[in-house]
Amino acid sequence: MRPRIAVIGSGPAGLSFARVLHRHGRPVTVLERDPARDARPAGGTLDLHKGLGQLALEKAGLLAEFQELSRPEGQAMRILDTDGTVLRDWQPRPDDQANPEIDRGQLRDLMLGPLDVQWGRTVTEVVPGSRDGVLVHFSDGQQETYDLVIGADGAWSRVRPAVSSATPQYTGVTSVETSLDDVDTRHPELARLVGDGSVGVYGVNRAIVAQRNSGGHVKVHVQFRVELDWHTRLNRHVDLDRHAALDRHADLNRHAALDASLDLADVEAVRSSLLALFDGWAAPVLDLLRHGTAFVHRPLYVLPVSHTWAHVPGVTLLGDAAHLMPPLGAGANLAMLEGAELAESIAAVRDPEALDEAVRAFEEQMWARASTWANITAAGLERLVSPDPSQAVALFDEVQPS
Ligand SMILES: Cc1cc2nc3c(=O)[nH]c(=O)nc-3n(C[C@H](O)[C@H](O)[C@H](O)COP(=O)(O)OP(=O)(O)OC[C@H]3O[C@@H](n4cnc5c(N)ncnc54)[C@H](O)[C@@H]3O)c2cc1C
Repeated sequence: MRPRIAVIGSGPAGLSFARVLHRHGRPVTVLERDPARDARPAGGTLDLHKGLGQLALEKAGLLAEFQELSRPEGQAMRILDTDGTVLRDWQPRPDDQANPEIDRGQLRDLMLGPLDVQWGRTVTEVVPGSRDGVLVHFSDGQQETYDLVIGADGAWSRVRPAVSSATPQYTGVTSVETSLDDVDTRHPELARLVGDGSVGVYGVNRAIVAQRNSGGHVKVHVQFRVELDWHTRLNRHVDLDRHAALDRHADLNRHAALDASLDLADVEAVRSSLLALFDGWAAPVLDLLRHGTAFVHRPLYVLPVSHTWAHVPGVTLLGDAAHLMPPLGAGANLAMLEGAELAESIAAVRDPEALDEAVRAFEEQMWARASTWANITAAGLERLVSPDPSQAVALFDEVQPS
């Protein structure tokens, strides 16, 4: 009899797993919390690396379609000083397929293809060890049993507690995300600033990174090193740069005098706090914040760098659920490759008794690779949001092709 397999989550990890298993003709149940496919914005752009995310798509038989949709020109990267001086300007060759960009929504639609996702199914707990298999509990009180449950449910995984007591910890860096639509016609000067790919501006303990998505959409990530509860204690927020005179943050302090707590849902209050925080930066860079629409507060969390667990029969984790790391271009790539590799391992199993051994071997392989990337990205975040902004430029010099 074929094993009953469920994957929790339809992000890059879950979809890659399900799609490759589906390609091998194996049934899999995909359980997703979102009530519908387009229930929330899919998010920004992802660069898929040749030996990682692209390899997963190859295993899913989707590489050619990816190449049709993706944007090799999106690999362009420009670095500015805070006064607007261009420090670096890398342009990819037209045939450069090393890390092309794709919108998350396009990638999700590509991977969903024929998959039959069960939407609106929020898992609350997973309990291994029952005689009939692994018990999955849902928020509506239902429960179901499977032979193998794959936790691909992201940073705040509800499956993870079945195998590990680890919880994500705050990195000390917070990101606030905003976006601009239709930049080529509405903000042509910002369209030129961002170019075909990304522009990054790195200052003391803070950075602004803008990335072009398809359709003239630009996502802006404002990152700064700050206490987790900075928005409840604005006066302490101004301490990012010890050399900054307090009056450079007049807006922020005025706001703090009125109310010590910033309402993160108040778009104009967040905008003026950010403009105060980046006061003195070049006007075109700050225009990215002036024209941004909503602001999304995203403190960056990570799991311990070499997160492993004692193998639990019937349950495993993929992607962010297993190894949440700073968002430096690796997470989705690893998630996808792990999904594809686990699916291939499972598809190769002929004897149901051997299923658990295949999962165990996969975990060892995943942990080793994830640990390498967790170290790289943790060190990268230290240098990109650093007291010494020259560290950010040096990091790009090390990783960009000359
Ligand atoms: C701003 C930003 C930029 C990034 N840029 C890049 C990049 O360029 N390249 C890159 O490789 N990585 C990037 N990353 C990292 C990448 O987004 C993640 O590593 C990746 O999305 C992880 O995929 P996942 O499938 O493991 O988890 P997720 O993408 O988080 O998907 C988890 C899924 O599980 C569902 N779910 C959650 N809880 C439950 C539940 N209880 N029951 C049922 N379903 C549930 C969620 O709704 C979601 O659909 C970036 C991250 C951020 C924040």
